[in-house]
Amino acid sequence: MKKEIPYKIYLEEQEMPRQWYNVRADMKKKPAPILDPRTLKPITLDELSGIFCRELAKQELDDTTAYIDIPHDIRSFYKMYRPSPLTRAYCLEKKLDTPAHIYYKFEGNNTSGSHKLNSAIAQAYYAKAQGLKGVTTETGAGQWGTALSMACAYLELDCQVYMVKCSYEQKPFRREVMRTYGAKVTPSPSMETEVGRKINQEFPGTTGSLGCAISEAVEAALGQEGYRYVLGSVLNQVLLHQSIIGLETKAALDKYGIKADMIIGCAGGGSNLGGLISPFAGQMVRGEADYEIIAVEPASCPSLTRGVYAYDYCDTGKVCPLSKMYTLGSGFIPSASHAGGLRYHGMSSTVSELYDQGYLTARSVDQTQVFEAAAMFAKVEGILPAPESSHAIRVAIDEAIRCRETGQEKNIVFGLTGTGYFDMVAYQRFNDGNMTDYVPTDEELKKSFASLPKTE
Ligand SMILES: *Cc1c(COP(=O)(O)O)cnc(C)c1O
Repeated sequence: MKKEIPYKIYLEEQEMPRQWYNVRADMKKKPAPILDPRTLKPITLDELSGIFCRELAKQELDDTTAYIDIPHDIRSFYKMYRPSPLTRAYCLEKKLDTPAHIYYKFEGNNTSGSHKLNSAIAQAYYAKAQGLKGVTTETGAGQWGTALSMACAYLELDCQVYMVKCSYEQKPFRREVMRTYGAKVTPSPSMETEVGRKINQEFPGTTGSLGCAISEAVEAALGQEGYRYVLGSVLNQVLLHQSIIGLETKAALDKYGIKADMIIGCAGGGSNLGGLISPFAGQMVRGEADYEIIAVEPASCPSLTRGVYAYDYCDTGKVCPLSKMYTLGSGFIPSASHAGGLRYHGMSSTVSELYDQGYLTARSVDQTQVFEAAAMFAKVEGILPAPESSHAIRVAIDEAIRCRETGQEKNIVFGLTGTGYFDMVAYQRFNDGNMTDYVPTDEELKKSFASLPKTE
């Protein structure tokens, strides 16, 4: 007899994964190497160790080791909020009157409110282990900065955050959480760095972008003894740390003999999606199983669905290594009316390569539709979702409705990356009926593609 599936599938503490999984090790065709922005040659471990701490630089370049041990101290920290539950969305299924079974992996059960803490603690740990004084970083909506502030406070590392100016102004409470954890928060572009001053001069009144905040944070790290730069998404090392999401999801499904048919995740820089799908994509590339994987991105920042697959700068100031990825061009700045996060111009090179090889598909959705899905989810499942997460909710709901129409009993799994308590300005705009959808024109994208570097 089949076990009845509970609302929440919990793993025991001892069932939490002891190793992260690196899907690149199993990919036959690997993602292209990252390049030095000056020489355009693949970057070496020594060069990369100037920006990132050594162990993270190693992880960044490692495409042969499939399983990497999670250090004991990181596991101990994880235990404060992990394993995270996999929830069967019985109430949402009922509301939609669908034969589909919907599951979501909830990563918002910690103060930072998102999955980002999974990588923040790992990055802070390796910085501390190397004897560094502190780290610098950028943050967009603020979740990454919050997560990093928490991790640094725990390990007593200094934390300096460059926060995209429009978020700094729109999300004062996020800023104060970071400061409560002891971080120094600076709105970006600032006048404190050379690149910040340059961008301010070129684009007076700009509300900033992630690419520009990254450049500032890198400059700040390079200019201070004992500091390194850390990044909350896009990088291989971040996908590696986030693989804990997918590994736990798979372990929970396996516990009840559930085979996922469809796996859905929102995609900004690709870290939660990459982490969620890693073990499943690993089975696919090894030819062991098949899944329908869908990446969901905002129509206002559509790197997978409308971008080009090319080497690009990861930051506006062009100081970071070049990465081959689906990109809108490093000069792309999403419309100020765009509220839902996921603002980065490019996509993780691993997710990009898996997408290019056909292991996943991508969809873009308008933000009003995203907030409609968010409101429905909040009402029936009780959790107020982050706007980013709600991109995945939107497509999960669309697919569950399709199952109702076709009578298919699919198992739909999606990543619920976080909570939306700090996004009430965006929710307010939606509730007041003032939210608009902005989709960039082909002309605008063409202009932005013109900034792509010539690597041939
Ligand atoms: C940062 C963030 C995302 C998007 O980042 P990815 O690297 O694409 O995962 C999604 N959801 C939440 C709640 C976030 O904080």
